[in-house]
Amino acid sequence: MKILNIRTVEVNIPLITPFKTALRTVNSVNDILVCIETDEGEGYGEAPPTAVITGDTKGSIKCAVEEFIAPSIIGMEITDLESIDEIMKTVNASIIKNTSAKAAVDMALYDLCGKKNKLPLYKLLGGNKKEIETDVTISVNPIDEMVKDSIRAVEDGFRIIKVKVGKEGLKDVARIEAIRKAVGKDIKIRVDANQGWDRQQSIRIIKTMEDIGLDIDLVEQPVKAHAFEDLYYITKNVNTKILADEAVFSPEDAERLIRYHAADYINIKLMKTGGINEALRICRLCEKGNVECMIGCMLESKISVSAAAHLAASQAVITMADLDGPCLCSEDPYDGGPAFDGPRIIMPEEYGIGIVRVPQFEN
Ligand code: MG
Repeated sequence: MKILNIRTVEVNIPLITPFKTALRTVNSVNDILVCIETDEGEGYGEAPPTAVITGDTKGSIKCAVEEFIAPSIIGMEITDLESIDEIMKTVNASIIKNTSAKAAVDMALYDLCGKKNKLPLYKLLGGNKKEIETDVTISVNPIDEMVKDSIRAVEDGFRIIKVKVGKEGLKDVARIEAIRKAVGKDIKIRVDANQGWDRQQSIRIIKTMEDIGLDIDLVEQPVKAHAFEDLYYITKNVNTKILADEAVFSPEDAERLIRYHAADYINIKLMKTGGINEALRICRLCEKGNVECMIGCMLESKISVSAAAHLAASQAVITMADLDGPCLCSEDPYDGGPAFDGPRIIMPEEYGIGIVRVPQFEN
């Protein structure tokens, strides 16, 4: 199939409740959707403007796709997975950074490649997991509100909760302690500081949580994205597992982190890697280095989170999923794709990503 045209459109979906982390507060998923038109049908992608993490904005995503990426790949042919490697080389050469824009184009290409080869994307990528389990995010708020949200998540069937902290230093321990008391000992608690602590605070907070027996599954990105030595020092000096998120965008970042064992796990997000093609490179590095991965998402709706779910369902090294974007949205405007049923993500048998209708592209 030949690439004929690439279109973009904005989507706006209110969240059920505001999403709050140490870095930002967001009230709606307001993303750019991408449609790649070929002579044999359309492929879909999505990119959120996560300015505080990736630097991408709605304007920059549209501009990167329309003025740099599209002119470089229109006319190219999609056949098999190798053809996607070639097209993504051209995409990556057309503009540096702009990882979210690249991710939207990359997933639309994989969507088309699945359709061309008559396979759901996870099978095209060699996978066989029919279902994956996701955690759900608890936003940072006053303690009683976080406790209430955690109890509701457990009632909704979630067995793993990811608690956002990092705004109030040692007070975060009281948050986690109250949540642990409320949900009991059988629920896995992950803690995401979103770069909100420094090295000393991280050690003090994590050791305190260990001392009082809060049984934390992992702590995610305690320090600044570029504080590599601090991350290394924390990983060496606590028993709790440390997950790198904002510290790892590219395969090069992953390679360095694995070489020095600066964290125990890596959180792969398509919006950081620039899509599935680069994410697969990180998976290969992690397999070699015996480092398990989480698949995560930004505030995204069902198109791009579904692409991430296909990647997770295809890769054994991805053992943890944080793909709660669609659960946080007040509506699902698209037809088809994986079923997001609370903690369960059930993979579709439709070809490609599985999204069969995007009304935003029908006007
Ligand atoms: Mg994170």
